[in-house]
Amino acid sequence: MALKIETPLTVNAYINGEIVEAQEHAPRENPAKPDETAGYWPKNTVEEAKQAIDSADEAFKSWKHSEMKDRIERMQKGIQKIKDNQDDLAELLSKEHGKPIYDAQGELTVSLMFMEYAVENAERVYKEEVNEDERGKNILRHDPIGVVSAISPWNYPLALSTEKIAPALLAGNTMVMKPSPMAPLTVTLVTQMVAEEFPEGVLNIVNGDADIGIELTSNDKVRKIAFTGGTNTGRHIMKAAADTIKNVTLELGGNDPAIFLDDFDVNDEAAMRRVVISNFLTGGQICMIAKRMYVHESIYDQFVEKYMEAAEKWLRIGDPTLEETTVGPVNNKAQLEFVQELIEDSRQNGYDIREVGNVADEEFFNNGYFMYPTVVLGADYDARIVAEEQFGPAVPILKFKDDDHAVELANDSELGLTSSVWGEEAHAIEIAKRIEAGVTMVNTAAIQGLDIRYPFGGVKQSGIGREYGEEGMLEYVDSHSINIPKTKDLPHIPQ
Ligand code: NAD
Repeated sequence: MALKIETPLTVNAYINGEIVEAQEHAPRENPAKPDETAGYWPKNTVEEAKQAIDSADEAFKSWKHSEMKDRIERMQKGIQKIKDNQDDLAELLSKEHGKPIYDAQGELTVSLMFMEYAVENAERVYKEEVNEDERGKNILRHDPIGVVSAISPWNYPLALSTEKIAPALLAGNTMVMKPSPMAPLTVTLVTQMVAEEFPEGVLNIVNGDADIGIELTSNDKVRKIAFTGGTNTGRHIMKAAADTIKNVTLELGGNDPAIFLDDFDVNDEAAMRRVVISNFLTGGQICMIAKRMYVHESIYDQFVEKYMEAAEKWLRIGDPTLEETTVGPVNNKAQLEFVQELIEDSRQNGYDIREVGNVADEEFFNNGYFMYPTVVLGADYDARIVAEEQFGPAVPILKFKDDDHAVELANDSELGLTSSVWGEEAHAIEIAKRIEAGVTMVNTAAIQGLDIRYPFGGVKQSGIGREYGEEGMLEYVDSHSINIPKTKDLPHIPQ
């Protein structure tokens, strides 16, 4: 059934099967028009976060025994409600986030894809396995872990929430969700829509910033944390989880390298457009965007020329509600200022700074948190724009000498989320095997190359654990081996 979703929208916490009216709400501005409010989110108290955890803890006692068929049917009803409201939800997401409407619709599609993948595979992945041979019998169970705290960031807020909700609940866990204050509305509404299909307390949502996050990650009753966000917040969360040895999945920051080998065809226009999208989709505000570009010196000049041509064509910056817009504003002022600071640092170091793309309405542009997509050429390998995760519409393009040099530069980072290698396929695959990352894509990058049937996650300081695929679903269960060996005594123990 379609709801009437109008902005400004006021959302509230959903705890133990009930909407909890907050004492205080905070506005979420529309970053394309900061004087317009997209909606109001509840400033929940730590006490309310505790109540949500208590209700999830209570609900777990019976939910863990529920039938898989029942879980799946309920999740399917939740999915249907999202589908019934898909266009309105995409509009809301675009308004609170700033991403263009096509991009918000894409996020809705991906959010549903995550949920449907979990529904389609839950029976198979979570089933009890029985193995028996001459040494005995083993019953391998996948037991739910307990109360899961799910914390999501602002850049892909809905998809990075539904990807947690679906496998966690299908595995028999209960959950308390907390979205980011920078994009709280769509997640809160969707979580409530899904939660209404489950018994009270199985899925709850509270809003707030670090104070609520700290409660959700340190409370004794929470057994697992599923977190997506920055590496620094990930550090705090690991510490908070340590006291009670909570299970953690941490999807953290990335500074993803893209390598363009000497056999990459710079005249392939479709590939060049894909390259530009790899840098500037969602205004560069994606964990898995190509953030450092390394190009073989023999093709560098031509690459830059063709890249600029493709960028001029594809980058149409402006009003996110217009269909022709491909890049919207930066999501918030602090992030805009951070990216501008990196560009200013590049300017002071004398690097070649090129603004690219087309702005249709200068007045609109000047009023919102907009900036021109920016390419930085000639930066030092250790420049801030190269070494730090910019998380916005700016990217450095650098030269390398040979394959070994490219691999060395790509791996010269404490982060290792995704990466990409572009060129003749067999050559690119060889180089891909040498990159330190959780995912490496060949001749594509960022979301364009995502395949959710396979695991996704980071190495080094980009995280712990995996999402997506079977491996990702197994992050929400504890394996439980029941051993019935034929020989029950050890032969070397004296009688
Ligand atoms: P963030 O770390 O600032 O915030 C993420 C969430 O954590 C928010 O909901 C925030 O309120 C909460 N939080 C803040 N302090 C907390 C604390 N002490 N304890 C518990 N929770 C706390 O990240 P962000 O700015 O929202 O998102 C951008 C970052 O997320 C980037 O670094 C990006 O690379 C990363 N990211 C990673 C992935 C991935 O899959 N690896 C995906 C998207 C974004």
